[in-house]
Amino acid sequence: MKSSEIRDKFLKFFESKGHTIVRSSSLVPGNDPTLMLTNSGMVQFKDVFTGTDSRPYTRATSVQRCVRAGGKHNDLENVGYTARHHTFFEMLGNFSFGDYFKRDAINYAWELLTKVYGLPSEKLTVTVYMEDDEAYDIWANEVGVPKERIIRIGDNKGARYASDNFWQMADTGPCGPCTEIFYDHGADIPGGPPGSPDEDGDRFIEIWNLVFMQFNRDDAGVMHKLPKPCVDTGMGMERLAAVLQHVHSNYEIDLFQALIRAAARETGATDLENKSLRVIADHIRASAFMIVDGVIPGSEGRAYVLRRIIRRALRHGHKLGQTKPFFFKLVEDLNIEMGAAYPELAAVKKRVADMIEGEEVNFGRTLENGMKVLEAQLAKNAGKLDGATAFLLYDTYGFPLDLTADICRERNIEFDEAGFHVAMARQKELAGAGAGGAKQKNVEYAGEKNKFVGYDSLVHASRVVALYADG
Ligand code: ATP
Ligand code: MG
Ligand code: MG
Ligand code: MG
Repeated sequence: MKSSEIRDKFLKFFESKGHTIVRSSSLVPGNDPTLMLTNSGMVQFKDVFTGTDSRPYTRATSVQRCVRAGGKHNDLENVGYTARHHTFFEMLGNFSFGDYFKRDAINYAWELLTKVYGLPSEKLTVTVYMEDDEAYDIWANEVGVPKERIIRIGDNKGARYASDNFWQMADTGPCGPCTEIFYDHGADIPGGPPGSPDEDGDRFIEIWNLVFMQFNRDDAGVMHKLPKPCVDTGMGMERLAAVLQHVHSNYEIDLFQALIRAAARETGATDLENKSLRVIADHIRASAFMIVDGVIPGSEGRAYVLRRIIRRALRHGHKLGQTKPFFFKLVEDLNIEMGAAYPELAAVKKRVADMIEGEEVNFGRTLENGMKVLEAQLAKNAGKLDGATAFLLYDTYGFPLDLTADICRERNIEFDEAGFHVAMARQKELAGAGAGGAKQKNVEYAGEKNKFVGYDSLVHASRVVALYADG
């Protein structure tokens, strides 16, 4: 089943259950200054959940574009390492605003997965929040999931394992217990069931999270019962596609294979399993869609998230031997794969490609030299990268900290992050000592230029910002 059909079936199913189909909102949240990037389907409905906004419907369904590459949810470090994480992904969701609650949410999810998508029920394992007997009973006694495949999970406070079945969007705001659905990709893949010591393996892959919003946490951390409990669910489209296309990794689905082939074409890589190709394929999606939504590469906040993603992709291209601009060419391939579902990409793809190319030209100059500095330092001390060199790479060659850390991780080299911060603090002190400090002024200037001022000035602005940030 192709991605387009998966989206379609999801929306049609929930429409048939009385839900209004709502378009994806922007990756730049319009209603939440505390959130850098839209990281789930519920973001555009946040105020509806807390009761400060209302809609003409009480049931909604959407396919939301999301980025998790900074802030509370950051999967950047997982990309290239797990079968299931992207920086950009699409979240299929259904929402109830004080309408139905646990019973219907669980039954809808099960019906959709097993009847519409036809997943074998014996491959599915579910988790519920430790104290949520209500959800447990629905799974066990109404849906009929065998008890050995219903796992109770805590809220991760002092828990031994990473699973967390108490959801909250941030330190304050709506929150409540979750129930999650996992797909078992088979005993030949390493990894244990959720809640087990090796749960982080990729055998049992979480496909759907159903959140039951029962509370609103205030600034003092006190939980207030929401007047009308709500439902917020999210299922990763790419993870479901992997299951439905009988592949294990998200990177093996149709959409990603096309991007990986394109990345191989542009870099000359021949091994399609190469991790760097996966990273590049992932990063072109995040980069392009962030630009579509008005983010401009820069040195602060979400602008810097975008720049870091682009530079990581370029470094992986460099690792594959490509030293010329190549990344921007993948925008066209992305448009072939996703332009029909996202006409907003098709409409501005040329400008998106131009902006990425601008970043490539800028960073290309320093990437090559920075890599030489790095290699020379590592030739002296193979086991460890010192903080001063990492800072030099950052300050003079435009290597974001995470990019340098990524190289070290790849090579199993110890990285003195604390030393980096010491060097950075010293630099800031020096800059602050002068009248205003030249560096500081640059940052302000970059911040000013990062504002979205319409597409006509985009490329120009990005180049200015890039030049400044690279010092
Ligand atoms: P995981 O534990 O695998 O990191 P999560 O618990 O952080 O996932 P949720 O916050 O519950 O994920 O998001 C809802 C759904 O969105 C997940 O069940 C998954 O299908 C999908 N999802 C989450 N993060 C990613 C990602 N980085 N890339 C692709 N899909 C994702
Ligand atoms: Mg996660
Ligand atoms: Mg999880
Ligand atoms: Mg989850």
